[in-house]
Amino acid sequence: MNYSKGKSSNKFNLLNILFPPHCLICGKETNGEGICDDCKKTIEYLNYPLIEHKKNIYFYAITRYSGVMEKAVKILKYKKRKIIAKDLSKIIIHFVEEQGIHFDYVAFIPMTRFEQTERGFNQTYLLAKEVSTAYQIPILMSLKKVKRTDKQVGLNKKEREENLKGAFRMEEAVKGDVLIVDDVYTTGSTAREITKTMVRKTKSNIYFVALSRKID
Ligand SMILES: [Zn+2]
Repeated sequence: MNYSKGKSSNKFNLLNILFPPHCLICGKETNGEGICDDCKKTIEYLNYPLIEHKKNIYFYAITRYSGVMEKAVKILKYKKRKIIAKDLSKIIIHFVEEQGIHFDYVAFIPMTRFEQTERGFNQTYLLAKEVSTAYQIPILMSLKKVKRTDKQVGLNKKEREENLKGAFRMEEAVKGDVLIVDDVYTTGSTAREITKTMVRKTKSNIYFVALSRKID
């Protein structure tokens, strides 16, 4: 078991020498990261990340969805590059530490089985997995998407809310604070619908944290 583990990491190092990693945004060589330091410097952090706070629910967005962040999220969303999930999860980890947010579980935005099969993966699950590994805490799997919905793109706020109504379900009660990670916060309809579903099953804090926010 250990042998195969060691073998794969040697293989990885050798691959790094033969094909040094490059920034997925600008193409420059990096020290094994998906986004280089120069690109990271251009990320626009929001001065007011707290969007809303209602009782035990908090909504946050960390950065502005533009430039490097927009490109990085698109790579995560459409190309499934694990290395990008790792870089982006570090932004979330840094943020929760800075804000002093404590959580016992990490959750993601679930997809229906059909949606997941169609896309092949769930990008917010990739982020949650990185956070779960970093903190050694479980991923909350009892939050499910039970209704197939239309794509949110092109719908207005009201249509988005209508589209998502009743789309999620919590299969069991949860004891402990939950961090939900998302990639892009647009109108907040997903955030509201998910937390509305969760709050029925928990008295603990729910922190909805989006990596980026679309701001016109
Ligand atoms: Zn770069």
